[in-house]
Amino acid sequence: MCGIVGYAGDRACEKILVTGLKNLEYRGYDSAGIAVFEGDKIKTVKAKGEIDKGLVPRLDAEGPLRALAGIGHTRWATHGEPSDINAHPIGNARITIVHNGIIENYRKIKEFLISKGYSFESQTDTETVAKLLDYNYNGDPIETIAMTAAQLEGAYSLGIIFREHKNKIFAVRKESPLVVGKGRGEMFIASDITAILEYTNQYFLPEAGEIAEIDKNGVTFYDIHKNVIEKELQTAEWDKTAAQKGGYEHFMLKEIHEQPVALKNTLSPRIDEQGIPSFDECGLTDEMLRSYKNIYVVGCGSAMHAGMVGKYVIEEMARTPVIVDIASEFRYRNPLITKDDLMIVISQSGETADTLAALKYGNEIGADTLAAVNVAGSHIDREAKMSMKTLAGPEISVCSTKAYMVQCAFMYMFALRLSYARGKIDLAKCREYTDKLLHIPDLIQICIDRKAQYQRVASKLMNASSLLYIGRGLDYALSMEGSLKLKEISYIHSESYAGGELKHGTISLIDEDMPVIAVATQTRLFPKTAANVEEVKSRGAKVIVVCRDSAVVHDEITDYIIRLPETDDILMPLVAAVPLQMLAYYTALDRQCSIDKPRNLAKSVTVE
Ligand code: GLU
Repeated sequence: MCGIVGYAGDRACEKILVTGLKNLEYRGYDSAGIAVFEGDKIKTVKAKGEIDKGLVPRLDAEGPLRALAGIGHTRWATHGEPSDINAHPIGNARITIVHNGIIENYRKIKEFLISKGYSFESQTDTETVAKLLDYNYNGDPIETIAMTAAQLEGAYSLGIIFREHKNKIFAVRKESPLVVGKGRGEMFIASDITAILEYTNQYFLPEAGEIAEIDKNGVTFYDIHKNVIEKELQTAEWDKTAAQKGGYEHFMLKEIHEQPVALKNTLSPRIDEQGIPSFDECGLTDEMLRSYKNIYVVGCGSAMHAGMVGKYVIEEMARTPVIVDIASEFRYRNPLITKDDLMIVISQSGETADTLAALKYGNEIGADTLAAVNVAGSHIDREAKMSMKTLAGPEISVCSTKAYMVQCAFMYMFALRLSYARGKIDLAKCREYTDKLLHIPDLIQICIDRKAQYQRVASKLMNASSLLYIGRGLDYALSMEGSLKLKEISYIHSESYAGGELKHGTISLIDEDMPVIAVATQTRLFPKTAANVEEVKSRGAKVIVVCRDSAVVHDEITDYIIRLPETDDILMPLVAAVPLQMLAYYTALDRQCSIDKPRNLAKSVTVE
């Protein structure tokens, strides 16, 4: 989850490292630090807290470092509280490292090293790696790293510097992500390419166990036997402006506004000459679609919620059973998936550790696996048998908006093609739905333009301590995401409940202090949700109804109404997602929360 960055070149590296770290701060931000070559020594500066409040003042106090190579880290603590001592880089005068991931056998290694006379000052698992490298060091960095990597269990990407190998950076990874960036006469390492897009969009992707030796002139990759490996240079399609705020106060707001374009980019290239979605680009044929017994959809957080929307749509249209699972549950519960099933995995970063592990399990079982990821070349993209990229561009805000939207769009495309392949809808009907899907970006723009109504309602929610979202069918699937958005960034507790389930327990929580947001876009279910609204209203709740423009809502059962432009019932979640996102945004804004970097959270969850 943390951010790693490294630089070797002709420029003073301090500023470049700090800029890279700021670009990565969404991955972790409880402490940050850099280690650089200063003279013939390694100089480390690190501090608890956000980069601007901790590391930067400390660097200012040090004065310019004038180093030409170094490594940096922004941390999301897994072992040991956020503190100056636990901050990375970690090491000694000889070897210093930055680490992303978790070393599972660190206790054993630590005991061994203590028996060899080493002492430890931090509580991190990372320090055991630094000291193990020191213990194994034989003057040859590649041999030392290979030997050390063979002793580590768990997930890691490591940036390593050796005092005796001035201005060189070494890197190795397993499970955790890492790219090696190639500039002109300068080289980089980074947890993801967005961190260094302002310097280069060319990069190499080291595989697990490969060791990179980097200096300003280039990189050499080795396998664990020290054989040189040739690797292909990749080019990122994203340009640097995609990873900047572009005048918006927060990345989240910018990304909400980018949704119409993100949807168009994701949908348009996938519509075939018949005018319906196609999965040709990833080799998924109609024949294959006809053959699957069950569809498993696996993801975490918002990605899993996009899968929930998909489940309702697929079961409704294609009449095929869909099992949606939380990746961390799926991987440990001995699921019933077989080689006759299709497994869809959804992940924005393509690096989500639990989703990756679930995917590997699906592959082992022999199921067909199809990934929807937003980052090309990511682990999940490479590991899945088939992969289709969602084309949202980089999503920087921890709280997912546009990535969720395009994940839902992917599920709709899949549902339509599956329904068509299985003869549940004919070509004309499929085309009709596709046309409506392609019209959704315009409706989303209308929703965005109605932001005043969300601001008004948010100002009424800001003092709530707990909130309930209710809905039925697709409205329920969507309300899960709405609830997650709110709690994630505003820190107001909220739950989403299927409307019909309320009276089986949860309604006892309702009183005048618990606002209820009723999502009611499904025409067939509207009277049922309206009845639930009456129930909570008569128990004193303040009710906000999110409904179609044409819905008839009686004043006495609602306090605020949020109106939505209309489309087919089945597509309404795409439209209704926008007010839920913006409600969360404006509520968090009113509460002066850290919107793009909510406490305790990090983007790209690369630890399980
Ligand atoms: N496990 C390491 C620590 O807690 C690295 C965490 C990270 O990836 O930021 O220090």
